[in-house]
Amino acid sequence: MPTAYELKTHRICGAAEGPHLLITAGVHGDEFEGVAAIHRLMNCLDAADISGCVTLVPVVNESAYDLRGRCGKDGLDLARTCPGRADGSRTEQVAHALAELIQSADLYIDLHAGGVVMDVYPLAGYGLVQSADVLAKQRRMAEVFGLPLVWGTTSDLDGRSMSVARDAEVPAIYIEYRGGGRCDPRGVDALFDGCRRVMAEFQIIDKFEQQRSRSAVYEDARPDSGHMQNCYPAPREGLFEPSVRLGQRVEAGESIGCLSDSYSGKRQMIAATEPGAVIVLRTYPRVDQGDSLAVVLEDAEELPSC
Ligand SMILES: [Zn+2]
Repeated sequence: MPTAYELKTHRICGAAEGPHLLITAGVHGDEFEGVAAIHRLMNCLDAADISGCVTLVPVVNESAYDLRGRCGKDGLDLARTCPGRADGSRTEQVAHALAELIQSADLYIDLHAGGVVMDVYPLAGYGLVQSADVLAKQRRMAEVFGLPLVWGTTSDLDGRSMSVARDAEVPAIYIEYRGGGRCDPRGVDALFDGCRRVMAEFQIIDKFEQQRSRSAVYEDARPDSGHMQNCYPAPREGLFEPSVRLGQRVEAGESIGCLSDSYSGKRQMIAATEPGAVIVLRTYPRVDQGDSLAVVLEDAEELPSC
């Protein structure tokens, strides 16, 4: 029997009673603000100030992080592999270890970004789960986190950290903050502050007095809502040049960008199929057929620039 895969965790437990909060980053290996925000939490949280326990995992998917990519060496996307298997491939083992950790938590925050190829509007997301109590806590966590957009979507998507939390009835949110292969210092600040606001909201630390602006809140229970990798698939290979910015309102038929055939230069306008606000944009220009180019949050008004 092989020994179970162990995640590199950092746990800070206070003497006083309180909930167990789990915060993870690096589920994808090319998303960096969350890793940096967790490093900062590791360096500043003191057990003397904590009621309950905080478990921090800066890099969940070490294989993907080493490859500087979304997926690990076995080619699996960890966010499609949960809850994994103890005796599976490396990503399946990591998924299994992550699932066990999520099941042990009372509250869960999973920090993401757009990776090297995408840029994502800063948002706190959650699944519209059946349990009214869990959903109410998720809404509280997402709103108090303090990013400009809060997005509730179907809880039916499987394979994700959020689906493990759904099945275990652990209140959970995921965070997206920009991307493009950078580590935006404003993002690190926003994630660090957001995590501490959630801790204060659930009395894990004392009140955290910092101003936050109100978030725009959208909920969409339709099947496949919240799936970011299958919207606006590129009709062919080529070079994509966006013509909009994140948060911008577009009308149906309006251009999101232009896809040019790499060799003939023949251009094709990519038009919005519904009115709404652009919340994800492909920023790495070289695309293969089927790559997602954008996500439009349907019927959303213009969002503040980010
Ligand atoms: Zn991610």
